[in-house]
Amino acid sequence: MKFVYDFTEGNKDLKDLLGGKGANLAEMTNLGLPVPPGFTITTEACKVYLDSGEEPAVLRDEVSAHLDALEQKMGKRLGQADDPLLVSVRSGAKFSMPGMMDTVLNIGLSDKSVQGLAKQAGDERFAWDSYRRLIQMFGKTVLGVDGELFEEALEKAKTAKKVTVDTDLEAGDLKKLVTTFKKIVKSEAGRDFPQDPREQMDLAIKAVFDSWNGDRAKLYRRQERIPHDLGTAVNVCSMVFGNLGPDSGTGVAFTRDPASGHQGVYGDYLQNAQGEDVVAGIRNTVPLAELEQIDKKSYDQLMQIMETLETHYKDLCDIEFTIERGQLWMLQTRVGKRTAGAAFRIATQLVDQGLISEAEALQRVTGAQLAQLMFPRFDEGAKVKQLGRGIAASPGAAVGKAVFDSYTAIKWSRSGEKVILIRRETNPDDLDGMIAAEGILTSRGGKTSHAAVVARGMGKTCVCGAEELEVDTKRRRLTVNGTVVEEGDVVSIDGSTGKVYLGEVPVVPSPVVEYFEGRMHAGADDADELVQAVHRIMAFADGKRRLRVRANADNAEDALRARRFGAQGIGLCRTEHMFLGERREMVEKLILADTDEEREEALKALLPQQKQDFVELFEAMDGLPVTVRLLDPPLHEFLPDITELSVRVALAESRKDANENDLRLLQAVHRLHEQNPMLGLRGVRLGLVIPGLFTMQVRAIAEAAAERKNAKGDPRAEIMIPLVGTVQELEIVREEADRVIAEVQATTGTDLKLSIGTMIELPRAAVTAGQIAEAAEFFSFGTNDLTQTVWGFSRDDVEASFFTAYLEKGIFGVSPFETIDKDGVGSLVRSAVEAGRATRPGIKLGVCGEHGGDPESVHFFHEVGLDYVSCSPFRIPVARLEAGRAAS
Ligand code: ADP
Ligand code: MG
Ligand code: MG
Repeated sequence: MKFVYDFTEGNKDLKDLLGGKGANLAEMTNLGLPVPPGFTITTEACKVYLDSGEEPAVLRDEVSAHLDALEQKMGKRLGQADDPLLVSVRSGAKFSMPGMMDTVLNIGLSDKSVQGLAKQAGDERFAWDSYRRLIQMFGKTVLGVDGELFEEALEKAKTAKKVTVDTDLEAGDLKKLVTTFKKIVKSEAGRDFPQDPREQMDLAIKAVFDSWNGDRAKLYRRQERIPHDLGTAVNVCSMVFGNLGPDSGTGVAFTRDPASGHQGVYGDYLQNAQGEDVVAGIRNTVPLAELEQIDKKSYDQLMQIMETLETHYKDLCDIEFTIERGQLWMLQTRVGKRTAGAAFRIATQLVDQGLISEAEALQRVTGAQLAQLMFPRFDEGAKVKQLGRGIAASPGAAVGKAVFDSYTAIKWSRSGEKVILIRRETNPDDLDGMIAAEGILTSRGGKTSHAAVVARGMGKTCVCGAEELEVDTKRRRLTVNGTVVEEGDVVSIDGSTGKVYLGEVPVVPSPVVEYFEGRMHAGADDADELVQAVHRIMAFADGKRRLRVRANADNAEDALRARRFGAQGIGLCRTEHMFLGERREMVEKLILADTDEEREEALKALLPQQKQDFVELFEAMDGLPVTVRLLDPPLHEFLPDITELSVRVALAESRKDANENDLRLLQAVHRLHEQNPMLGLRGVRLGLVIPGLFTMQVRAIAEAAAERKNAKGDPRAEIMIPLVGTVQELEIVREEADRVIAEVQATTGTDLKLSIGTMIELPRAAVTAGQIAEAAEFFSFGTNDLTQTVWGFSRDDVEASFFTAYLEKGIFGVSPFETIDKDGVGSLVRSAVEAGRATRPGIKLGVCGEHGGDPESVHFFHEVGLDYVSCSPFRIPVARLEAGRAAS
């Protein structure tokens, strides 16, 4: 096996072997672009090293051979005393990873060769500056010395000289600094800074290998589900110098604007500087356009190279370059990051330029980006005072009065106030306060902190880890840069940018939602480019996708909105939502019924109400399927809270005026009380033990369908039985349902074609799906409950209690309630699909859990061959887009 590749030997498709940086350096080299020569040590070499603790025996020789060749090409030897070849050692895994070793520049400099470099360049200052940078970077990243120590020494040198920028330090100062730096290395690392250039290089290479297993890198991989055995490549690249005077410099650039997608000149340039000075913000950069005045020849060449790269990569690229005494060098390129809006615009622009196909355009955008574009945002034109900035943990724009504890959040929100809950960090005790708040703001914690995880789960706006904010919960105030925000002051938080504002920032609806709602037409003159781009991409997706997309909707209003968003039916109508409000009393009567007559009377009262609900729903979804789920939740949910009721009854009894109905209610509440309601009397079990309940619901559906039919409508109802564990349960309910439907058909003179199916949401149902399919015309995977029952944890409890710990430990990269757990829950879905189809080839298969609107999960459902996904109306565009991406 070959462990080292010259830049001339690789290409961009070898990212597994050469890492992203190495593969693209090779690609640019082979495109004939000016890349400083060098070579890449493969991830395979890293793997051997990590497995065995030793570098592969042949590696040293291979590196020597490539170094020889490099020295030949450059006409000087690494660290040669009178004219040294210098190199950078750069890490570069397949995925760029925080926590991995950065780059060491200027390897090859020593007490001797620094003199040679000075002579060759005719510049003392430059040589000593390069040397101090080497010791600094090497000390920090290879020898593990605290970088602050070097920074402090540098600051001291500047103060002593009464200057503020590095470039004002002269050769003599830098020479002294080198001595200081070497002392720091000696005392902190317990060894001298290595003077042998090859030793420097070898140590740096090993440090890059080792950094693959740094704690932060490991944690990042666990969370992102990046395999631990990929390893990193190492790039050895001959140095070019941007710090050789005013005709030198370094810069970064984008081939188009990463914010808008527009073509033009976007980037920053810094004269007389090396490497990371640009990003570090040590001195002020100038806009790239000014390079045209500074160095026209290099500027023109750069523009041409950028065009070459765009046409070659067929995408926006970002680049790093350096100019050494008027000679341009390319140091890095990759397909660049962009904002969500730019992603849509760029994808359509590239289609128009004929660079990519529609199918490729779909791969350039994501559902997550679309979702981001659909959140309401703060009005950009508004005059606002920014208080600070934290981590954008859960998107949205929230405005409310500042409160500093959950109790106040609940109290104020009950009296109709909008509140923002501000905490240093949240814990499970804050849950009710978080629910009551418009948004959550914390000063500590990152993307996996309790606040962030729970807020995302609830779809609530959250900014976390805004460290400048000093939150004082005792005095109920926060302080930031002298501004004090007291309890009750209004604040605004932007969960998409992490920005925190004082006062009320006006919120405007997203133009993309205006478009989906039909309030803005993509063809209209005032439709912005973004809407047009989204419109076109959605058309590409709809043209490609095989999965149909339905909505979870319980009433006509939601159904109509879902239709506007592109829903092709309702995948889940929850009938329990029809039993709330005023109807709760009727349900109470049903539950309390002692005799058959009482029960029948209660059901009779409910029937017309239910029927009317369905008539409206079928009308809203005319011509499209509507899956109605029969009553699912445990009955106690319709009864008063056990504690409240007990207190009420006890008080009344002490006054000796206990109310008969309350006493009966309390009895019923006690009778129905369950330790584990989630696993108790609910779903099909209700239908089997409460005579007449499901019958009434089926009758309401059938009569509503008949009414619509007779009104020349096209109702397409599907009756869904929840929480089935065995085919026998389904058979019993089905028999009765078939009887009722036949009766309604006969009395109304209609042919209703109602289908009956079941949810697959218990492991037993999934495992016996082959049998269940005998009695089910369709399956709808209820992946929320299936996730709960497969994992054995309750969603309502665990997200707030131990999920944060699981995410931090990397056991989950993402909550299994957010993205389907493919290996566990997903594998049950897969086998149930196969078993269902084996029994009943035409069986209709869908999913109606939250996962139906989650991008990664949609791809999974496409892959296992479901017919449709169903999700909340707002997620429909995301599901359509991802279904299109999955199919192209
Ligand atoms: P990162 O992954 O952090 O971008 P890089 O390996 O790209 O790390 O290097 C950090 C900085 O050093 C970049 O600005 C890069 O352009 C510069 N750099 C790297 N190698 C060389 C080199 N051989 N000559 C000059 N500058 C270099
Ligand atoms: Mg880096
Ligand atoms: Mg870089």
